[in-house]
Amino acid sequence: MTDQISHSGRYSLTDIGINLTDSVFDADRETVIQDADTAGVKRMLITGTNARESEQAISLCQQHPNRLFCTVGVHPHYSKEFSPEVRNTLAALLKHPHVCAVGETGLDFNRNFSTPEQQIWAFEQQLELASESGLPLFLHERDAHMQQIKMLRYVKDEISGGVAHCFTGSREELYNYLDLDLYIGITGWICDERRGVELFNLLKEIPANRLLLETDAPYLIPRNLKPKTKSRRNLPAYLPHILEQAALARNDDPQELAQQTEANCQRLFRFSQATLN
Ligand SMILES: [Zn+2]
Repeated sequence: MTDQISHSGRYSLTDIGINLTDSVFDADRETVIQDADTAGVKRMLITGTNARESEQAISLCQQHPNRLFCTVGVHPHYSKEFSPEVRNTLAALLKHPHVCAVGETGLDFNRNFSTPEQQIWAFEQQLELASESGLPLFLHERDAHMQQIKMLRYVKDEISGGVAHCFTGSREELYNYLDLDLYIGITGWICDERRGVELFNLLKEIPANRLLLETDAPYLIPRNLKPKTKSRRNLPAYLPHILEQAALARNDDPQELAQQTEANCQRLFRFSQATLN
């Protein structure tokens, strides 16, 4: 336990985006899960980024039923791995009871680790999987907003909603997602006094029933944790800090915002209330 984890039991939260299969957690994954629980992060949604990691995420969930859930999908960076066989693997994995969403999927034209054509095809396939499975989407997007919105608009009536995970976009981009009835995932980006100011100011425009919270750990450690941590590794136990920052930005009571985001989470991912104890 570190000093920053001092919110014991005050909230009951779900981290909707944690990359818990990442090898940086190999040495102390159980401690990370336990510390999160102590900090009031009672449930986590592990992000599946390709077929293999999605399988690993499911086996982690099986070790912690009621606490860990996951997404199944292929991140845009890995789109070049997508094939009809991968599609079949994902379709089978999506039937698992711990799987709550298709993703992360979407488009990332920032670094193009896969070509835009490969990304568009893999995204189309996963939109189909979302429609076939009835599960919501866990969306990633960078430098590809209009193309992504165009594709989402096209399938709007066939999909069961979704979340724009790690949203860091503009006001206009925010409203494009809201117009599609999507939820908005907010990370510790709002704790960044250099890059996060625009988003911090935008936070009060997100309708209360559309806001979700996530750490995206091990990435995006909140920059204003006090005292500063030695490690730059982000942890799910820091989610209450992000909640409090979000409450500050919205001029909301943190406890009420915690309850509101939990209700949103249960609505979108169809968690039952009973699992959070
Ligand atoms: Zn992402």
